Amino acid sequence: ETFARIEALEPKLHSFLHLMKEEAEATAKKVDEKIASGEEIGLLEGLPIGVKDNMCMTGVPTTCGSRILENFVPPYESTVTGKLKQAGAVLVGKTNLDEFAMGSSTENSAYALTSNPWDTSRVPGGSSGGSAAAVAAEECVAALGSDTGGSIRQPASFCGVVGIKPTYGLVSRFGLVAFASSLDQIGSFGRSVEDAAVLLGAIAGHDPADSTSLNIEIPDYTQYLTPELPKDRKLKIGVITETFGEGLSEEVKTAVEAGIEQFKALGAEIVEISCPRFRYGLPAYYIIAPSEASSNLARYDAVRYGKRSEEADNLLSMYTKTRAEGFGAEVKRRIMVGTYTLSAGYYDAYYLKAQKVRTLIKQDFQKAFESVDLLVCPTAPTTAFKAGEKTDDPLSMYLSDLTTVPVSLAGLPALNLPCGFDSQGLPIGMQLIANVLREDQLLHTAYVYE
Ligand code: GLN
Repeated sequence: ETFARIEALEPKLHSFLHLMKEEAEATAKKVDEKIASGEEIGLLEGLPIGVKDNMCMTGVPTTCGSRILENFVPPYESTVTGKLKQAGAVLVGKTNLDEFAMGSSTENSAYALTSNPWDTSRVPGGSSGGSAAAVAAEECVAALGSDTGGSIRQPASFCGVVGIKPTYGLVSRFGLVAFASSLDQIGSFGRSVEDAAVLLGAIAGHDPADSTSLNIEIPDYTQYLTPELPKDRKLKIGVITETFGEGLSEEVKTAVEAGIEQFKALGAEIVEISCPRFRYGLPAYYIIAPSEASSNLARYDAVRYGKRSEEADNLLSMYTKTRAEGFGAEVKRRIMVGTYTLSAGYYDAYYLKAQKVRTLIKQDFQKAFESVDLLVCPTAPTTAFKAGEKTDDPLSMYLSDLTTVPVSLAGLPALNLPCGFDSQGLPIGMQLIANVLREDQLLHTAYVYE
């Protein structure tokens, strides 16, 4: 049934780069047999799940949306997909993404253009655009994405679904192709808070194979999905003043304000909170992320993985020709920027300074969480834009991450919560942000709202 729907929709949507029909049917059959024999099944057993194509699965092509990983078939399994298989989930396919997760529209994929299911002339957001579109179009129940600066939350907002980026370190990155390691985090998409929470619970947890993985007990997140806000004291939600300024579309503003009113009606106390350094998040991110990317992407040398240029006649030209042919324009731009900001003489002026800004942004959040439980702001400044609209203008593309990036720099958990539609019927989302490891509060509040 799922595949009939996928096959009917894919010619229009292109959410997937690779389908795993045979494997999926084999898993589904096992679950059916279990049910037929009267055995009890787990929460995820038999559920169709999509996986962003930057997570490795043994024997399944993993391209990261890049020509340089064309034909790359990993010999190992990422921790997250291993956990899902263990739980009996039906992994249906690998979803489209911006090359190496760099982008905000999925247009940087070397393989396919994914359409927004609400209006196919528009982008699904990015970089996890394939996962967001697949969930919105009901090609799967839920999906995995990765979020470095907004890549789960922004496409979730554009496609009208729930998208959770957990606390940095909550989910293992083992087997996730690295973009900017100090920011990369795997998270979940679902059409409801509950679906996304269940998937998050299934992938979270300590992993010795990832040195940044937190060694903590993971609670059952579904226990927090109760219908009312706490009664013993008022939940305090801070509205980040700085995010309602310039560049925000009027319709997004109106819908998010209505969402905030609804929190009030549900019994929350709403206060204004200023995060004065919030606006330095974007420039700091666009130094830190490319710096880490330039280092991470040095491993594509045509020796160990994927593609090797046919034109090369010596070792050096093998490196340069392969990388010239294999990487797309945005990836090259980031490698150039990152190499520059890390080079001797510029390091202090750019990279080091950006790291200091990162600390200041963290402090702004820490201060805010001394007086409120959660923060709220628009997830993206606009609704989904037209395909091709921003492809020649990287700066305007980068601006769609204005409110998601500071949260990533601080490593906080946050999610996109759909909160209405604009006059063209396109979904609008608000971003709910919690303090470190307060996924419980985040999920509970989102669930009550929904
Ligand atoms: N759009 C942002 C970027 O291009 C974020 C990407 C992401 O979170 N992976 O870097």
